[in-house]
Amino acid sequence: MAPNVIDGISNFRITKNKSVSVADNSEEKSKECVLSKHSRESSKYDEIKNWYERPEDIKWLNSTLIISFHLFALYGIFTLPYFQRWKTFLWSFFVASCGAFGITAGAHRLWSHKSYKASNPMKFILMMCFCCAGQNSMYHWVRDHRLHHKHSETDADPHNSNRGFFFSHCGWLMQKKHPEVLMKGKQIDMSDIEADPVVMFFEKYFTLSKVVISYLIPIMVPVYFWNEDWYYSFLFQFCRYIFSLNATWSVNSFAHLYGYKPYDKSIAPVENKFVAIFSLGEGWHNYHHTFPYDYRAAEIGGSRFNPTTTLIDLFSKIGWAYDCRVPSENLIKMTVANRGCEDKISNM
Ligand SMILES: [Zn+2]
Ligand SMILES: [Zn+2]
Repeated sequence: MAPNVIDGISNFRITKNKSVSVADNSEEKSKECVLSKHSRESSKYDEIKNWYERPEDIKWLNSTLIISFHLFALYGIFTLPYFQRWKTFLWSFFVASCGAFGITAGAHRLWSHKSYKASNPMKFILMMCFCCAGQNSMYHWVRDHRLHHKHSETDADPHNSNRGFFFSHCGWLMQKKHPEVLMKGKQIDMSDIEADPVVMFFEKYFTLSKVVISYLIPIMVPVYFWNEDWYYSFLFQFCRYIFSLNATWSVNSFAHLYGYKPYDKSIAPVENKFVAIFSLGEGWHNYHHTFPYDYRAAEIGGSRFNPTTTLIDLFSKIGWAYDCRVPSENLIKMTVANRGCEDKISNM
């Protein structure tokens, strides 16, 4: 199915800081393209830091669980017999990939950004995969992600990268939400999600679906089909779960902090190929924040790893994915010329 090509200046994203200074000195210009954290006004940063350090804002149960789960997963990663139990290892890889597809093609590109449309059977598959990832419910995932795009790198961004690597990676789940996140979150339009019968069905039975699809079935399959030991079956899935969480979190941390900015150097998100590998193609984040409506979440070509796009394209061949939106090549070129760094595209 032919993609829905979007062209024209009206599609430029409006930002608060529309004017992009173009340095005359090419060395300085190059420095601007490589990421650096956005400049922090010291008073504002101190204010955030003070708030961050208030013990009463720490969610102690979440913090204890996240830290202890990671310690146990580290023990598993270093002690699991991957070669002797290769079937269980491959099964864990398959489960991780299904969960990742539910996040990237479902929660992110379909439901958060409406970058393409999907038939009900495809939505059902995506919701099953999403449950497999074992993250927050779809409603909360989409609301937080829309908030992230609308208020990137401000107090209203749930995982504001200006508050440091740890906060944007997993620290934001360990403490109460910033008041701005709560206030601006209520203003996010969620009517499309509330009107989606597939999402709402899973929302109603979300906890049960998550426990069965993300934990019970993945642990039971190796035991019943190839007599895996319960202990190893559990440990493989436990490590798979913690690994998958970190792959998703990396988009909010690494891909907002370390990499290049070929498309828009006025924003924090960057192109990071390592994140792209671990997140099925979501690491091309400077492009994604510049063209959030593009179903590919990346420019195509070069060595850009993007299996999510390949899978959506396969679904579009049977008509289950359609109205896939992309910006025109001309619009991308104009954006790079006006706001980005052309020489950094060849690095991708
Ligand atoms: Zn996004
Ligand atoms: Zn982002």
